[in-house]
Amino acid sequence: MLSVAEKSRRRFLEETPLGRTRRARKIHRILADTYPTAHAELDHRNAFELLVATVLSAQTTDIRVNGVTPALFSAYPDAAALASAQREAVEEIIRPTGFYRAKAKSIVGLAQDLVTRFDGEVPGNLKDLVTLPGVGRKTANVVLGNVFDVPGLTIDTHFARLARRFLWTESTDADRIERDVQELFPRKDWTMLSHRVIWHGRRICHARRPACGACPISALCPSYGEGELDPQQARGLLRFELAEQTGQSGDAGQAADGGRTKPGHDGPSSARGEGR
Ligand code: SF4
Repeated sequence: MLSVAEKSRRRFLEETPLGRTRRARKIHRILADTYPTAHAELDHRNAFELLVATVLSAQTTDIRVNGVTPALFSAYPDAAALASAQREAVEEIIRPTGFYRAKAKSIVGLAQDLVTRFDGEVPGNLKDLVTLPGVGRKTANVVLGNVFDVPGLTIDTHFARLARRFLWTESTDADRIERDVQELFPRKDWTMLSHRVIWHGRRICHARRPACGACPISALCPSYGEGELDPQQARGLLRFELAEQTGQSGDAGQAADGGRTKPGHDGPSSARGEGR
């Protein structure tokens, strides 16, 4: 006897490329309705701050990064200030984000590069951004999509997991996932698609126990049944503002995911291993 998850996957085994594209775009429409306020969750006021915050977000949570960046940008408000900072002083400020020695080296180094090579400004193109210390395609795409309006996919741990669950890709390689997903969506959608998929991964389609029984895209998902199917139990797994809407505390989510308490502040931000 087949499990629910096995039956779900079988339904999509014969799917044509056109069928997959249509299904992918339907999923995106539903996610857009479900998360109308989806956005980048690292606090920032400009390209420099988002670039530094994204480098700091490797292997930690957005809430940890948002906890240190006010002090960091108060002490070093621009690339010139950070470029001449004492590394040890930077390390002390960013220590809660983990890997603080390597991260301090990266952000001071990238500030120095910005000053010497780009007149202190963050370049608005991928080719230059990925030459900066600690900056890979994921970080570059975050900055390009959110500050420069250049569409880009953010393949973090959530996006990679969900893209595989949706059968948008079979790969675990971030560059390959990016290429596979790019083929399914118009370029103009890439940045918002990234935010919505990541929000879905943080709120409903969790790594360890997805809330399938409360998922708005369950009918389109080949992985339906991998998680909790009972609707009431599944609603108890929802996190952040969705948990508040259903009267749940979100505590189950915190326990399973490291004690996060506010909307939009969970999850390691990198699946690519950048910046460390
Ligand atoms: S929660 Fe379940 S049904 Fe929803 S996207 Fe994730 S695996 Fe699919």
